[in-house]
Amino acid sequence: ADLTTDVVIIGAGGAGLAAAIEAHDAGKEVIVVEQMPIIGGNTLRATGGLNAAGTSSQEAAGIEDDADTHYEDTMKGGYELNDPALVRILADEAGPAVEWLIELGADLSDVGRLGGSSNNRSHRPTGGAPVGAHLVEVLRTSVENRGIEIKINTKAVEIMKEGNAVTGIIVEDNKGDTYQISANSVIVATGGFGANGDMFADYDAALTGFGSTNHPGADGVAILMAQAAGAALIDMEQIQTHPTVVPENGYMITEAVRGNGAILINRNGERFTNEIGTRDVVSEAMLAQEGATGFLFFDEGIRESLSAIEGYIRQGFVVEAESLEEMAELMDMDAAVLTATLETYNAAVASGNDEAFGRDDMPRSLETAGYYLIEVGPAVHHTMGGIHISPQAEVLDESGSPIPGFFAAGEVTGGVHGGNRLGGNALADLMVFGRIAGKSAAK
Ligand code: ADP
Repeated sequence: ADLTTDVVIIGAGGAGLAAAIEAHDAGKEVIVVEQMPIIGGNTLRATGGLNAAGTSSQEAAGIEDDADTHYEDTMKGGYELNDPALVRILADEAGPAVEWLIELGADLSDVGRLGGSSNNRSHRPTGGAPVGAHLVEVLRTSVENRGIEIKINTKAVEIMKEGNAVTGIIVEDNKGDTYQISANSVIVATGGFGANGDMFADYDAALTGFGSTNHPGADGVAILMAQAAGAALIDMEQIQTHPTVVPENGYMITEAVRGNGAILINRNGERFTNEIGTRDVVSEAMLAQEGATGFLFFDEGIRESLSAIEGYIRQGFVVEAESLEEMAELMDMDAAVLTATLETYNAAVASGNDEAFGRDDMPRSLETAGYYLIEVGPAVHHTMGGIHISPQAEVLDESGSPIPGFFAAGEVTGGVHGGNRLGGNALADLMVFGRIAGKSAAK
């Protein structure tokens, strides 16, 4: 049966849940629809932290930081392709968003630093609990306590319009039945298109064949739906990739494995690239190998240098062997080839000259048994482009004018991150613009 409400929100990830709470707290009736059987989207997978400057957590830890520095780091990290007005809001409102989340019950007391940030500003729970899952849980509880309805297994398939104004959505449930939800305001918070291989390859042909770190609901269909309703899209070709992802589950292996000295080999047991080259070069080299993947290869010395590796071993990503011969047998490689690869590489470490691939940072030779290997391939991680919004999270049309009743927030939007998203800025983006979208939609 058709429904009517004040505000309808598409997507129950971080941005949609934050928007739902703000719209409710501004006195509106809210319905959230989520196409998957579970809520949380990609937000559930976030492990880095939430970047914010000037927070009580920073103060308690004696960290000096300010919104201007967060702004400058974000612009620089995005190669200045970001929309400065959106970044200003991000930097100014991330601190208040952290205090808001703490009031809702979140633990954001541990403050670390991720790449590209000049100060420690990446907020997460103390004790190492994954930050995304923690925030989804806090937001879910807050949504439930307010009696806000979330309809799971319910996919938005069309944005309804009357004249220029958006008037609601058409949804489809998991039985294939469709109905309308009429609303004064619609908020699109559907996340990016990182799980849609055809779509990202359309926007950047170089990503053909890439895997994905995204949850399957990041299909991007809602972006095209918003476009059909008049939304302008920006920066769609700005897509963030990661070169070393476990193919079967999309788990990212930290760059520190290579940084600490691991090499990449192919199915023959041969190196094929400068392992610490830029992401695009390493990714392309891997796709050119048989099976379109490579193997991170390292020894006991590297294992001992990096605690993250223990986690990879526990999760079953790592093939372990006591000797090169055993590794060759396990991997169906020629032991002579693998041994020669290691001898050549260790000689390069000793001389400081990697004649084969020009790797300049070779911190360790690989000669201490046991030996370890992780299969990895390149994958899409975050889509920076999307729906063009104003600083008030209004959806803009091609002429730059707001479409009445239409709002968007989170990874589905473009402009905040420019050409490259800094670690920790995705959660900041979702919380800041999710809250703003909720407030704007309630006006
Ligand atoms: P953000 O980080 O921007 O909040 P997430 O990926 O965390 O984005 O969450 C977006 C949510 O929106 C996901 O749970 C996804 O399944 C959901 N979603 C995507 N498209 C639709 C759609 N057409 N209808 C309903 N839900 C959708």
